[in-house]
Amino acid sequence: MALRPCPLFIGGEWTTVSGVATTPVHNPSVGEVIAETPLCGADVVDQAVQAAAKAFPAWMETPPVERARILFRLKVLLEDHFDELARSVTTEHGKTLAEARGDVRRGLENIEFACGAPSLLMGESAENVARGIDCDSIRQPLGVVAGITPFNFPAMVPLWMWPIAIACGNTFVLKPSEKVPLTTIRITELACQAGLPPGVLNVVHGGRVAVDAILDHPLVKAVSFVGSTPIAQYVHERGTKSGKRVQAAGGAKNFVLVMPDADVSPTATGILEAAFGCAGERCMAGSTAIAIGKAADTVLPQLVDVVSKVRVGPADRDPDAQMGAVITPEHKARVCDMITQAAAAGAKPLTDGRTTKVASAPGGFFVGPTVLDHVRPGMVTMKEEVFGPVLNVVRMDDLDAAIELANSSPYGNGAAIFTRSGKAAREFRHRIQAGMVGINIGVPAPMAFFPFSGWHASFFGDLHLQGRESVAFYTQQKVTTTRWFSMGEGTIWADR
Ligand code: NAD
Repeated sequence: MALRPCPLFIGGEWTTVSGVATTPVHNPSVGEVIAETPLCGADVVDQAVQAAAKAFPAWMETPPVERARILFRLKVLLEDHFDELARSVTTEHGKTLAEARGDVRRGLENIEFACGAPSLLMGESAENVARGIDCDSIRQPLGVVAGITPFNFPAMVPLWMWPIAIACGNTFVLKPSEKVPLTTIRITELACQAGLPPGVLNVVHGGRVAVDAILDHPLVKAVSFVGSTPIAQYVHERGTKSGKRVQAAGGAKNFVLVMPDADVSPTATGILEAAFGCAGERCMAGSTAIAIGKAADTVLPQLVDVVSKVRVGPADRDPDAQMGAVITPEHKARVCDMITQAAAAGAKPLTDGRTTKVASAPGGFFVGPTVLDHVRPGMVTMKEEVFGPVLNVVRMDDLDAAIELANSSPYGNGAAIFTRSGKAAREFRHRIQAGMVGINIGVPAPMAFFPFSGWHASFFGDLHLQGRESVAFYTQQKVTTTRWFSMGEGTIWADR
């Protein structure tokens, strides 16, 4: 099969780059290479930044309402191409079509939010802050800003960034994950069709070298990053050192507490979705369930029952597949190795995804949903982000101990509790050290108008992605204090 093109988009032109190393893009469902991503160097990043800088003055002067109109047109185009985009996500990522539709839908909601730019950018004003003196604030764009994204949400995560950034009047350089560049390319084509002027959105490809070039470029004023914690921390340190604003969302270990009074069936389903949705490749994956008291006896058998019925398959060709493949063969090997290590340390696999075979797609990168019981702190699957379909089950005696264990994690993205007790839920919400909390909701990922508010090692920076915090991140405020001494010449009123 012919490889799909993986062009760059710079200054309104699609271009290719030759003479650079490339890295493969797989269709993980079948294990085929479908494209090669060029690993661009600093020269290419500079071209993209220069194009964005050239486009900035005119774009900044474009009234927010006109910028929003282009985003409205893009929203309509994405709706028109919704299934095509979902298929693109499935093809390059391996998640099921239903999950891919969620990926595109959540991205689209960020465009809908960005369409509100005219009111989101409104400032504040106060009359008579002192006698005869008024004060107001306005929000202005920063200039060229950049986004660096992970592989696990090819549509949504880039759309967390550039629509709101450009709605605020900035111009943008996007470096999508080198593992999943194709959906971004298609969405960029549609953005052109919607009328986005040349240079407002630019797309470059690559890995560490391209990222460093973005972080060091003097014309880049702010960087949005989403990816693993070590890289998020690195991006934040290097970017802030060179004087940029940086928001860097990192990895996670999310705990799901199950109280003995939890409603059994919806709790089992909630944990199933939290742990195994997108094959566990989610920063909001509920990767550790803490069964409190008798919860292990009630919820665990039902959970194992539903998990063992999950149909694993090639998402791009099996419409009934409930869980797809993981992203690369190396990642599959890493996930299986972590299961092996945990089992050797005493964890008991109640279901074991290492042995999963999919007859219709023998080359796919499949790991079946794996439930590890009797997991203890210190085991590798507890310490590290597995980012695969592996659920730790830890048994504990009471809510206090469970909250203490969850709070001992260095991460702080999401946490959830399943219970019928308002008191337990209230206690959990108050004391848990995580920025996104679910009460009887396994994956409490906030909608586009709320911030994606990770804590601790899950986020480096001050202002989060999504919602009003993203508007604050992509703008700087100007506060004007005004006094007038007299009427101008020719006035027909007497001065007061
Ligand atoms: P990753 O950190 O490997 O890559 C993310 C980006 O960083 C990519 O664009 C990649 O090209 C770049 N990169 C990789 N290595 C680099 C290096 N050494 N120097 C500079 N740049 C580098 O992450 P991934 O595997 O693509 O994505 C999975 C991770 O993303 C998980 O840890 C997941 O939890 C996290 N994630 C977090 C959120 C969140 O909101 N907190 C959302 C989605 C994903």
